[in-house]
Amino acid sequence: MSKPITKKRVVLLGATGSIGENTLRVIAAHPDRLELAGIAARSGWEKLADIAREHRVPHVGLFDPAACAAAKASGRFAPGTTFHSGLPGLIELARLPAADTVMVAVIGTTGLEPALAAIAAGKDLALASKEILVLAGKFIMAAAKKHRVKLLPVDSEHNAVFQCIEGHPQAGVRRVVLTASGGAFRDWPVERLAHVTPADAVKHPNWAMGPKITVDSATLANKGLELIEAQCLFNLRPDQCQAVLHPQSIVHCLVEFNDGAMLAQLCPPSMTFPIQHALLYPERAPGVEAPLDFTRLLSLEFRPVDEDRFPMLRLARQTMVTGGSAPAIYNAANEVAVAAFLAGRIPFLAIPQVVDKTLQHLDPREPSDLAEVLAIDAAARRYATSHL
Ligand code: MG
Repeated sequence: MSKPITKKRVVLLGATGSIGENTLRVIAAHPDRLELAGIAARSGWEKLADIAREHRVPHVGLFDPAACAAAKASGRFAPGTTFHSGLPGLIELARLPAADTVMVAVIGTTGLEPALAAIAAGKDLALASKEILVLAGKFIMAAAKKHRVKLLPVDSEHNAVFQCIEGHPQAGVRRVVLTASGGAFRDWPVERLAHVTPADAVKHPNWAMGPKITVDSATLANKGLELIEAQCLFNLRPDQCQAVLHPQSIVHCLVEFNDGAMLAQLCPPSMTFPIQHALLYPERAPGVEAPLDFTRLLSLEFRPVDEDRFPMLRLARQTMVTGGSAPAIYNAANEVAVAAFLAGRIPFLAIPQVVDKTLQHLDPREPSDLAEVLAIDAAARRYATSHL
C-alpha cells in the first residue's frame, strides 16, 4: 500500500512581493501536497484579498494596522476570515497551530521576530529574507538547533548550496562559490557608473525582483549579503565563501571539496525552483517551469569579480572577518543608502561610501541578545541617514 499523502500547511509572510507571487505559483501547482494556512503583507490588502479568495486562506495578516482595519471593513474577504494586525499579528501567524512551515519573504528585518517565533513554535522555516540571517544569524541558527526545526534557504544560491552539500561531511568542504550575474551594469565602463540613474539600476538582466534587491545586484551588495548568509547557514570561515561572475544565472553555486572536485546546482533563473525545493523538501515533484533544454546551445561563462569595480563586495568580506555586529551595520547602512539613491538624493557611487563611513564609525561589538541587535541596527541607520 502506498503511503497516504500528507499536505504541508504553509504560512506565507510577504505574499504580495515577488517571492510571494512565485510561492503562490508553486502552491497552486501542487494542490495535493501544499496548502496555505495563512498569508500576510505589509499594507496591500486588496491584493491580499484576491489571494485569500483564490487560495481559500483562513488567516490573513497585515503589518500596517490601518490597512488591517480597512481590510476587515472591506467585505472583500470570505466570512470567517481571521485577521492578524501589526507585528504581533505576524508573530501570531508564524505560530499558527494549523501550520507546518513558515515562509518568511518579507522585505528587510521585519521578519526577524516572526521567524524566531515560528522556530520556537516548532515550525520548519523557509527563509527568503537574507537580512534576517545577516542581522541575527547566530540567534536564528542556535534557535533552529535548539527546537530541532529545519531551516531551508530559499535564496537561490543558498538553496543550491544546501542541495550540493547535503550528505557530505562538513570537514570535506573546502569552499563554497556563489555565482553573481553582475547586475545591470556588469558591461558598463567604470566612468559611466557615476551617472547611473535609479531607472537604470532597477533593470536586472536575468531576474525580475523588487527595486531594493535589483540595486543591490548592481552594486553586488546583494552578493556581499549572500556571502555573509552562506557563512552563517553553512558554518563556514570567511575565506571559504567566495563569489564568481556568471552572467547567465544558470549555475547558482559551486561547492568545492578537499580533493578539488566540485558539485554545482543548475536550473533556469526562476525563483520557483528554490521555492519548490524548500516547500516540498525532501520530496521532488515536477516543477512549475520548464527545465534546461539541451537541444539548444547553452553557454556557461565564469569571470573573476573585480572588487575595485564592486567595493560593496570587498566591504562585505571585511565585515565577515571583523565579525560581531559588522555585517548588521553593513546591511543597515546599505538599506539607507539604497533608499536615498532610489529617491534621487545621492549618486550611485555614493552607496559604498555611506556604508564604509558607517562601518568605520560604529563599534562592531558582539550583540548578546536580540534587543542589542535591533539597537545596533537602529544606530547604524541613524548614522547613515545623517551622513548621506
Ligand atoms: Mg540570491
